[in-house]
Amino acid sequence: MRLLESVDDRNSTRQAVVQADALIDDASPSEAAGRPSVTIRHTHRPPDRDRAIRAVSELLTALGRDPGDVHLAETPRRVADSLLEMLTPRAFDLTTFPNDEGYDQLVLAKDIPIQSLCEHHLLPFRGVAHIGYLPGNRILGLSKLARVAEMFARDLQVQERLTQQIANWLQQELAPAGVGVVIEAEHECMSLRGVRATGARTVTSALHGVLRTDDRSRSEFFALAQGSFSRP
Ligand SMILES: [Zn+2]
Repeated sequence: MRLLESVDDRNSTRQAVVQADALIDDASPSEAAGRPSVTIRHTHRPPDRDRAIRAVSELLTALGRDPGDVHLAETPRRVADSLLEMLTPRAFDLTTFPNDEGYDQLVLAKDIPIQSLCEHHLLPFRGVAHIGYLPGNRILGLSKLARVAEMFARDLQVQERLTQQIANWLQQELAPAGVGVVIEAEHECMSLRGVRATGARTVTSALHGVLRTDDRSRSEFFALAQGSFSRP
């Protein structure tokens, strides 16, 4: 299976590509027995590390600093590598299992640490994600919820889009009865500069399926996800 997915429909030049290559053909016996493993890669246009290093050096100059200063000698390389690390998703195996027991209650992973880069200021925002779903025919390895969140977080982001992308992706790939994602995060562009609202947290949510349409299911999701954030 090969899947191309636009994760930014506002700007076609920044279209990300998600490639999902099902390993059915060379599946191990357990996979062939109904545990398909899917490897996810999420890539933008390949970064140019040398160019990024030169650009940081130029930025230092533009800021009135001397990139030739002995103390700044390694700074362009460090900054470029830091950014590249934060913007490069790690591949992982998306393992799903048949829902043999017919489990039909909420599965919720709470307080998943999340960090991303604000696309407006290139400053980090950090916090936690709470990701839940009502299983359909398949269930997902629990650690994979955090992996999916990380895959989209390692990008230039706004919190609203990040939240929506995680929910949309799970809905499409897992086809559950419902999906709910809540992210609460502190944005350094709000706490370190501008309004300097240290400690202010932004809460966003995205819901699909039964969690969106059914009042009781939605209430249950928010009640379980609650605890470390104020309900939106
Ligand atoms: Zn910002």
